Amino acid sequence: MANQDLDERTLNPPPSGDGDIETAHEEDTTPVAELEGGRVEELDPETRARRDAALRQVRKLGDPVLRASALGVERFDDVLQSEIERMGELMEDALGIGLAATQIGILHRVLVYRADPEDPLTALVNPVLEWSSEETETASEGCLSIPFVHVEVERPAEVRVRARDGRGEELEVQASGLAARVIQHEIDHLDGVLILDRISRVQRKEAMRAMREAQEAAIAGNGSDRPVPDSEAHSGASEESPGQGEGDSHADEAVPDASSGGWE
Ligand SMILES: [Zn+2]
Repeated sequence: MANQDLDERTLNPPPSGDGDIETAHEEDTTPVAELEGGRVEELDPETRARRDAALRQVRKLGDPVLRASALGVERFDDVLQSEIERMGELMEDALGIGLAATQIGILHRVLVYRADPEDPLTALVNPVLEWSSEETETASEGCLSIPFVHVEVERPAEVRVRARDGRGEELEVQASGLAARVIQHEIDHLDGVLILDRISRVQRKEAMRAMREAQEAAIAGNGSDRPVPDSEAHSGASEESPGQGEGDSHADEAVPDASSGGWE
């Protein structure tokens, strides 16, 4: 089931000044391709401030919008263009490698990603997963909407997606490795699905505990230079997600009430 045969770039990611890719967990040799989230400890103050500002605009776990299904885009106009541009900028500033429109509260089927720093930013509008491989890969994922959490997620190793670009031109993307993973992660967002839904109940409990501990540590260890918690932050809210999966599967999602530091 778990397949460690990741491509070489994922196994040996290029040194990343962006902080959007982690190389490995210390405790094992599992390749880690961190999605969306990044390391903050080593960032220079300016980059970190920019990242914090971007993250404040990203909806967090507990916000019902993350559980909504986004609607297909019908108008390929300037509004859509600027939406895509804004998403790209936010993603870059947040040091992420992917972002879905729902994460900034826009219920449009739009996602942006850049799995390889060498690649241009790609925007997929109305993406449809046409095909996915039977072969799967398991790797660690983070999410800008779920601070401090990294979980091992198993996904098809390769996908083919049909979509439109920001101008309405049809495009088809065949992706493997990290690109396939980030595309699937973002399409999940458009369907109201989070990485927490892709793991077992036990793993989910563990992830939520890790998040609580990390939030507490961040508050305790770094209180002084912390931005004022954003009023739009929704951590602390519990959420209801009718009709999703195994009924109580989101029961653990209630985010601990934390003035959770720089993450909002
Ligand atoms: Zn995410």
